[in-house]
Amino acid sequence: MDCIFCKIIAGEIPADILYRDEEITAFRDINPLSPTHVLIIPGKHITSLDDLSGDELSLAGHMIEVANRIALEEGIAKNGYRLVINCGQHGGQIVPHLHMHLLGGRQLSGRLG
Ligand code: AMP
Repeated sequence: MDCIFCKIIAGEIPADILYRDEEITAFRDINPLSPTHVLIIPGKHITSLDDLSGDELSLAGHMIEVANRIALEEGIAKNGYRLVINCGQHGGQIVPHLHMHLLGGRQLSGRLG
């Protein structure tokens, strides 16, 4: 499959990986929008949030758990952070492999859309 995030998981494309288990991988965004900008993704190729269903729904909770843990490790948990999942064209999703953005380390804009 020609998916850039699947290639990162497979080790075919380098990435700064912070966390990995049998379901989830987390790595630093190549074009960070804030001092901490990490992507949390499922190992299984799921195109978008819209495709998450059934048994896979528990993955979302696991992704949040991993994001919270990384926020703690990055030292941004106390001041706060933002978790974002862009879904589809109007949601601004560019890479078609479900991913959660963990953003923090500075005061983020109040604007969401
Ligand atoms: P989205 O707009 O939600 O699809 O965000 C995709 C994100 O993936 C962007 O923030 C990109 O900077 C990031 N990205 C794209 N390619 C890579 C890569 N090879 N390594 C790390 N992050 C990437």
